[in-house]
Amino acid sequence: MTHRPPLGQHFLRDPNVIKTILAAAELTPNTTALEIGPGKGILTEALVPRVGTLVVVELDKTLARDLQHRFQDNVHVTIIPGDFLRVDLSSLFPRDDARQPMKILGNLPYSITSPIFEKILTWPAWDTGVFLIQREVADRMRSGPGSRSFGILSLAVQLFAKVELILNVKPGAFRPPPKVQSAVIRLRRKVRPDVPPETIPSFFDLAHGAFAHRRKTLGNSLSYHSGLAKKAVENWLKQQSVDPGKRAETLELEDYVRLSEKWAIFRRENGFDIAPDNVYNTERFSD
Ligand code: SAM
Repeated sequence: MTHRPPLGQHFLRDPNVIKTILAAAELTPNTTALEIGPGKGILTEALVPRVGTLVVVELDKTLARDLQHRFQDNVHVTIIPGDFLRVDLSSLFPRDDARQPMKILGNLPYSITSPIFEKILTWPAWDTGVFLIQREVADRMRSGPGSRSFGILSLAVQLFAKVELILNVKPGAFRPPPKVQSAVIRLRRKVRPDVPPETIPSFFDLAHGAFAHRRKTLGNSLSYHSGLAKKAVENWLKQQSVDPGKRAETLELEDYVRLSEKWAIFRRENGFDIAPDNVYNTERFSD
């Protein structure tokens, strides 16, 4: 039997949280919006009169059918039954609706937050996203150097977007209440990620290598990860004005950006090239 992640069906019931999400999304009557995991449609219902085009994707067949029924008279609303992780993004807005940047919203199923972000962050069609996610994950996405929660997820999200905390949300805002705290965050997607597309694999390889053994020094961790000799890695780091005795979480996003391309060259020159399939997989955004 294949493992299926739980559907994460905790339905919002607090109208103030809905209001905050709507305000944070800065909607206009011309807005094209995508909602991920509408559930019973509390957010959907609020979005319908406020946007020009709305597409929602819901995995639960019964809930999707109910929503199709409920919004069948709204020609600007499309309910897509299916797994968001499997939908072809380019098919969601077949007409030229998406000419102006789209907004993405969702009270997400927490177990698949990372793969959802991995899927949307490289998609250039949107500019603003407002998401209700687990607070601990929101903290990881927003955190910076020196924080225990700073890691691959922080670097991955911040490479592509600016992240803001909008609201902390208690379990009582949902029915049934989840066991964890939640938070609304807003993402402003950067027009261009901080590294060019061809350098993204080496950015992730470097970040994974640095954080692979987060208690070890950068010299040690990158050497274990890449197979390169520790001395060679330490010398390379020194050449880049990075102290090899530092730990991964003390470097800034800007340091990882600055080092990415040079790291790929260094690896290649020493016969330890980056295997692309080690970088582009669903583990990319997790520590
Ligand atoms: N947005 C609703 C609300 O606030 O009440 C429901 C939120 S609930 C946390 C997550 C929703 O995502 C559920 O309706 C669940 O069925 C749906 N879902 C779970 N996995 C999904 C997937 N892979 N693709 C699309 N929807 C999914």
